[in-house]
Amino acid sequence: MIELLSQANREPLAEARAAMLTFVVAGGGFSGAETAAAMNDFLKASSKFFSSLDARDAKVVLVHSGDVILPELDAKLGIYAQKMMAAAGLDIRLKTRVLGYVDGKVQLSDGGSIAANTLLWTAGVSPNPLVASLPCRKERGHIAVNAYMEVADWPGVWALGDCALIPTPTDGKFYPPTAQHAEAQSKILAGNIRAAVHGGDKKPFVFQELGKVAAIGRRRGVANVLGIDFSGLIAWMIWRALNLSLIPGAERKLRIMLDWGLDLIFPKDIVEIGIGTERDRRRCNITMKSEPT
Ligand SMILES: Cc1cc2nc3c(=O)[nH]c(=O)nc-3n(C[C@H](O)[C@H](O)[C@H](O)COP(=O)(O)OP(=O)(O)OC[C@H]3O[C@@H](n4cnc5c(N)ncnc54)[C@H](O)[C@@H]3O)c2cc1C
Repeated sequence: MIELLSQANREPLAEARAAMLTFVVAGGGFSGAETAAAMNDFLKASSKFFSSLDARDAKVVLVHSGDVILPELDAKLGIYAQKMMAAAGLDIRLKTRVLGYVDGKVQLSDGGSIAANTLLWTAGVSPNPLVASLPCRKERGHIAVNAYMEVADWPGVWALGDCALIPTPTDGKFYPPTAQHAEAQSKILAGNIRAAVHGGDKKPFVFQELGKVAAIGRRRGVANVLGIDFSGLIAWMIWRALNLSLIPGAERKLRIMLDWGLDLIFPKDIVEIGIGTERDRRRCNITMKSEPT
C-alpha cells in the first residue's frame, strides 16, 4: 500500500492515479470487514505524508453480496458496523457481487465496474486443492468425518481443521472452518488417537463457540461474547484482549501490550522500508548474480 501511495504521489495522470488509490475488498464477512477497515485507517493516516495526495483521494470499497455486512453476527451489529465504517469514509456496496477483474477494472454484478489496481478476495475459503485428489468421501469439498474425526471408510485415518467437515451433535449441521474450532479439535483428536492406539474411550467433538469479535476501524469493534452483544470501544477492547491472550509467550505478550499501549497515545508510526519495490527487486537480482558461486 505504501508503494502504491508513493507511485500515486508521482503519477501525473488523474485516471491512473485514482486506480492506484482505490482498494476493493470482495466479501463483507469477518476477514473482509476487518481488512477493509484497517486499510481505510491506514490510508487516511498515511496519505498526509505524501505531498501531492489528499486523504480523500484514497478509497477503500467493500463489496458485499448480502443486505448487511458481518452476516455471522446479529444484523444490528452489522448495521452498526456499516454506519461506523461509512462514517470513516469507506464505500460499502451491498447486494453486489464481484464477478471478475478485467483490464484493471473490478466487474460488479450491478453492471458497474471500479478501476482499481488492488482487489482483495475475502469472499469465502475453499479447502486445499489436494483434498479433491484424496480417495475418500467428500462433503462440500471437505473430507467427510464422523464426530470422532475418523475419515469415513478409512479406519485409522483422521482429519480435522479446514480440510474436514465435522458434524455438530444436534442439528445435523457442520462446524465452521475457524482457528477456534481447529485448535479445540486438535486436543480431542490427540486423545482419540491415543485411545485408538492404547485403548480407552474416544470422545466426540462437541464445541460451544465462546464468541465472535471483529475490529471495524480505529478503536471500534463489534462482538458477541457468550451470547451478549457489544459494540464500540468495549468491543474493540475485547478484540484486543482476546488477540493478546492468544499470543504465545509472556515476553511477546508484554512487548505487544506495551506497543498497543503506546498506540493509544501516539499516532501510527509509518515507515517505508522499501521491501518489495521494483527498485529493491532489481537491486536484489544484481546482488544475487554478482555473488560468487
Ligand atoms: C483471512 C483469514 C482470516 C481468518 N481469521 C480468523 C479469525 O479471526 N478467527 C478464527 O478462528 N479463524 C480465522 N480464520 C480461519 C483459520 O485461519 C483457519 O480455520 C485455521 O487456520 C484452520 O487451521 P488448519 O490447521 O486446519 O489449517 P491451516 O492453518 O491452513 O494449516 C494448514 C497447514 O498445512 C500446510 N500444508 C498445505 N499443504 C500441505 C502439504 N501438501 N503438505 C504439508 N503441509 C501442507 C499449510 O502450509 C499450513 O501450514 C481466518 C482465515 C483466513 C483465510
